[in-house]
Amino acid sequence: MLRHKAYRFRIYPNKAQQIQITKTIGCARFVYNHFLDLWNTTYSKTGKGLSYHSCSAMLPKMKKREETKWLKEVDSIALQSSLENLADSFSGFFNKQTKKPRFKSKKYTVQSYTTKYVNNNISITGNKLKLPKLGYVKFAKSKEPRGHMLNATIRKNPSGKFFVSILCEEKIPALPKTESAIGIDLGISDFAVFSNGQKEDNHRFTSKMEKKLTREQRKLSRRALLAKKRGINLLDAKNYQKQRQKVARLHEKVMNQRADYLNKLTTEIIKNHDIICIEDLSVKGMMKNKKLAKSISDVSWSSFDSKLQYKADWYGKELIKVDRWFPSSQICSECDHNDGKKSLNIREWICSSCGSHHDRDVNASRNILAEGLRQLSQA
Ligand SMILES: [Zn+2]
Repeated sequence: MLRHKAYRFRIYPNKAQQIQITKTIGCARFVYNHFLDLWNTTYSKTGKGLSYHSCSAMLPKMKKREETKWLKEVDSIALQSSLENLADSFSGFFNKQTKKPRFKSKKYTVQSYTTKYVNNNISITGNKLKLPKLGYVKFAKSKEPRGHMLNATIRKNPSGKFFVSILCEEKIPALPKTESAIGIDLGISDFAVFSNGQKEDNHRFTSKMEKKLTREQRKLSRRALLAKKRGINLLDAKNYQKQRQKVARLHEKVMNQRADYLNKLTTEIIKNHDIICIEDLSVKGMMKNKKLAKSISDVSWSSFDSKLQYKADWYGKELIKVDRWFPSSQICSECDHNDGKKSLNIREWICSSCGSHHDRDVNASRNILAEGLRQLSQA
């Protein structure tokens, strides 16, 4: 399995390099706009657009022409990428997936250009990054990019900071097979209950921090109210602004904790099982009640779902989404008898047909497993 991953770093170009980057961004934009214009006129005259190749073939002539010979001074791959980008935009437009490409303006908040990896033109030595036409640029290497490089996008943000995003391709070996299949029931009090009886308590990653966050958010709205009463603009209300930053930091912490927890949990599941069955979230969503707790778990559920999906793809495992609604907590996983509706406070029950003793959620996850395996056998 090939994985594509972008590694972002802050770069610290010197004065000359900064000028070169700005120039390249300008040239890439010029080329984009020039050919967008040409594309539009050709289209209105002939009813046919251009192509990446027809545009790219015109570049060498432009570099010789007096009025555009400055295009020679920048990374030629960046100009070609700009044309590829334009051609992609047009095919997106013709396939009705995107809007008609528009002219790029100098005023765009993010200014960037993309260059491609060819013959070692991009490389890392210590804390220096070699880029075409720029040479070695100092950068903050916070992690080691893995795999082989495909391209690098150099960005300048409105405050004048520079960043690079290096896209790498990495081959990931499949994980060893375990011959194990598991069903998972997602819930609110227990985040996940497994058909083997394992339970993942929601509180482990929510309660403490989230309570604190709710408290601080309440404090924030009180301060907003107070400022309003005193007729102070919120932008000038120091106490309010201080609290706003505190809430933002706390919120980020909660999100990071949760992402961390979900990453560990999904990796564990993918490592231990070959077939993983869960309910399709769009189906599951319909049956749950509308409460605040729901919206919180929804975010985690969908993040859990997507992490499981891409990890299953990476490591050669199978994720099956049970897409048929069925009352998984009413059906006895031992004998298939439907024992009737059970209110949420009933956590355990005994099947009236076969006498099996069930934990409500474990029983549900066993039914999800059985249904998933049934779907798999019919696929
Ligand atoms: Zn039964």
